Amino acid sequence: MIVREQVPLAGCTTLGLGGPAARFAEAVTDADVVAAVREADQRGEPVLVLGGGSNLLVADEGFDGTVVRVGTRGISEVPGGPDGLATVRVAAGEDWDGVVRWAIARGLSGLECLSGIPGLAGATPIQNVGAYGQEVSATIVAVRGWDRQAGELAELTDAECGFGYRTSVFKEGSQAGRFVVLEVIFRLTRDPRSAPVRYAELAGVLGAAEGDRVPLADARDAVLRLRRGKGMVLDPADPDTRSAGSFFTNPVLTPGQFERLESAVAAGTRIPRWPAPGGQVKVPAAWLIDQAGFTKGYPGGPGPRISGKHTLALVNPGDATADSLVALAREIRDGVLTRFGVELAAEATLIGLKL
Ligand SMILES: Cc1cc2nc3c(=O)[nH]c(=O)nc-3n(C[C@H](O)[C@H](O)[C@H](O)COP(=O)(O)OP(=O)(O)OC[C@H]3O[C@@H](n4cnc5c(N)ncnc54)[C@H](O)[C@@H]3O)c2cc1C
Repeated sequence: MIVREQVPLAGCTTLGLGGPAARFAEAVTDADVVAAVREADQRGEPVLVLGGGSNLLVADEGFDGTVVRVGTRGISEVPGGPDGLATVRVAAGEDWDGVVRWAIARGLSGLECLSGIPGLAGATPIQNVGAYGQEVSATIVAVRGWDRQAGELAELTDAECGFGYRTSVFKEGSQAGRFVVLEVIFRLTRDPRSAPVRYAELAGVLGAAEGDRVPLADARDAVLRLRRGKGMVLDPADPDTRSAGSFFTNPVLTPGQFERLESAVAAGTRIPRWPAPGGQVKVPAAWLIDQAGFTKGYPGGPGPRISGKHTLALVNPGDATADSLVALAREIRDGVLTRFGVELAAEATLIGLKL
């Protein structure tokens, strides 16, 4: 395993921000990943497990600990199993979009709407990656990993992963950071058609009704088209993709909070919304941000800005710093709070910084 010192992290993140890591280990086998994490834990050093760096905002000062970059590979279908279903084991270091393409090429349904999301497979359970009506929690049956607390390998069932909207036990709560994901096990459906389309905008582009199934390749193409229009597919030629994706999560409001929000907007304004579990209401953060006066491209001039294609993405056009980007994020959060009484939370993981 190669271990280097003082490695700049900016080049390892899609935002292109972040100072040096004190130590940086490139782990290409599960044994390397475990050894690198275990040794850093034994030295009492902070550990950052790094995938594709597409959900990270790292401080300009860098990371005073060990970064372990996961480079393990392997996708395989487990032979046997129930009719019509396929169990697929994916190493944490596999490129996520490659996994989606692999599944579609084999006529396996369930991941197609997650096309074009950057990063590695091992990070998908962390925030229960989702888009266009699909979330990985719908197809993950287990996650195999290294339990840093017990010092042993562990396998968590989907129920034990505690998946929720952009969260899981891996990301939040008392177990956060305890497990290093080594392998994700999916249960996919043998069907050349997509899972039922659950997202109105996607259904519209496909000329389908919500609930319809469409050919897997059509679902992928439509998702990629929609994502490109929003700067949500990495493209070196498109500066709007130099982001961490959605910087904020969509707030989930209780009925009482939603009523207060309704009273804060002009009479007759229909607030876009989706139903959320337990009678709650999910409101698009992009709409709140835009309505609070932070429109696409804000603030203009040098430094970080809101994407010109999507209000939810904060972009480093090339001359931003992590400090300036988090300052913009705070300004937006505070502006939305003052205008609507709704506090936005970061979806991106902040390392060495606080919102
Ligand atoms: C243009 C763009 C579009 C995006 N669109 C979406 C979207 O539609 N939906 C969505 O949900 N997300 C989206 N994202 C966010 C991001 O791509 C996902 O969260 C992705 O899963 C992060 O993967 P990664 O490998 O880059 O993780 P990283 O950014 O490297 O890490 C993210 C977090 O996961 C932890 N982590 C990573 N790997 C492991 C592991 N093996 N074990 C334990 N912890 C680990 C890290 O320590 C860190 O806390 C987008 C990002 C960008 C830049």
